[in-house]
Amino acid sequence: MNITKKLVVIIGYGGMGSYHGKLIKGSESLEVVGAYDVLTERQAAATEDGYHAYESYEAVLNDSKVDVVVIATPNDIHKDLAIRAMRAGKHIVCEKPVTLCRADFEEMMSVADETGRVLMVHQNRRWDEDFLIIKSMYDQHTIGDLFQIESRVHGANGIPGDWRRIEAYGGGMLLDWGVHLLDQLIVMIDSKITSVTGRLSFILGDEVDDGFEAFLQFENGVTAVVEVGTTNFITLPRWYVKGLEGSAIIEDWSLKGRMVTRNNEVERIEPKPIQAGVGLTKTMAPPSEGSTITEALPAAYEHASSFYDNFAAVIQGSAEPIVKNVEVLRVLNLIEAVFEAGRTREVVKDFDIYESKSDSEVPSFPVC
Ligand code: NAD
Repeated sequence: MNITKKLVVIIGYGGMGSYHGKLIKGSESLEVVGAYDVLTERQAAATEDGYHAYESYEAVLNDSKVDVVVIATPNDIHKDLAIRAMRAGKHIVCEKPVTLCRADFEEMMSVADETGRVLMVHQNRRWDEDFLIIKSMYDQHTIGDLFQIESRVHGANGIPGDWRRIEAYGGGMLLDWGVHLLDQLIVMIDSKITSVTGRLSFILGDEVDDGFEAFLQFENGVTAVVEVGTTNFITLPRWYVKGLEGSAIIEDWSLKGRMVTRNNEVERIEPKPIQAGVGLTKTMAPPSEGSTITEALPAAYEHASSFYDNFAAVIQGSAEPIVKNVEVLRVLNLIEAVFEAGRTREVVKDFDIYESKSDSEVPSFPVC
């Protein structure tokens, strides 16, 4: 079947803009034809990659052949660029964080409603294999009900680049990596967040946070720690989770990890006390031999489609978006609560805009 491809232009041809070109390559329904960047050298890079470099943003908006605009600029201008493009009849893929605050995204959502354009935020880390393993364990109760989830990304390079260090551009790690890790949690845990506490790190002396810790309590009893650090010369595991029957760990992006569960086949033997430091302990002694089972991590869920296949299907009206705008809005609202908790050093409650997904007819994560 000969499908007419929707034509795409990338706005902001930096690190992520050029990556979008690679993501779309090979798509049956989308084709990148152009790019626009305010920097001459990035315009040249787009030309080298085989795209038409538009002379201005207006030129992109005035080109009636363009169906889709992908926005990959610094965060503070996403809203303005997206609203103008939707009003010019274009569908939008927008990088994360879509806006710096919830109210701005509400404005974008209402323009999407008014114009009937598709607006989808690139929350691509919903496709990360490490996350999909943990999500599978959560849903399948592989180590019993998960009740404690710790999700961390650690680096030692400080805040990268230029604009990410500036508040006005929407810099800082809570808006940068935080938006991914919090998004993963709310996709995984279908329960209201009842309280949040948090701590923002300004150890590098930048005007924005160089990392943060957020502690979340969900109504269903799950607690979560989300941490982003850029001053960690020794890193903690990407994921550490505890279930009623065991614990699991994913060390890093290589997915090295394991799960250890209670062996219900053997009779429980009281552990023997061990020497620990200058004292004795039975509580912290390793479990007796044979009383636990160590196994490889389960396989990750597989998404039914890639981000861009899903986006193209949403434009055609044949699929629901995997990344829903109400979820994006909820994460922005949660980020505001973490900022408030960090600023006030208080527990923030009664903020979550949660809607249960349990009656949804379109599961985002079909089991493979
Ligand atoms: P970058 O600095 O490498 O690129 C941004 C580009 O936008 C630059 O080339 C800059 O010249 C251009 N630009 C600035 N203002 C512009 C304007 N008005 N019109 C056109 N171009 C403009 O930054 P980056 O790392 O590519 O980040 C871009 C966006 O992508 C950010 O929102 C960031 O949070 C997001 N991002 C997402 C992921 C992900 O995994 N989803 C990863 C990295 C970055």
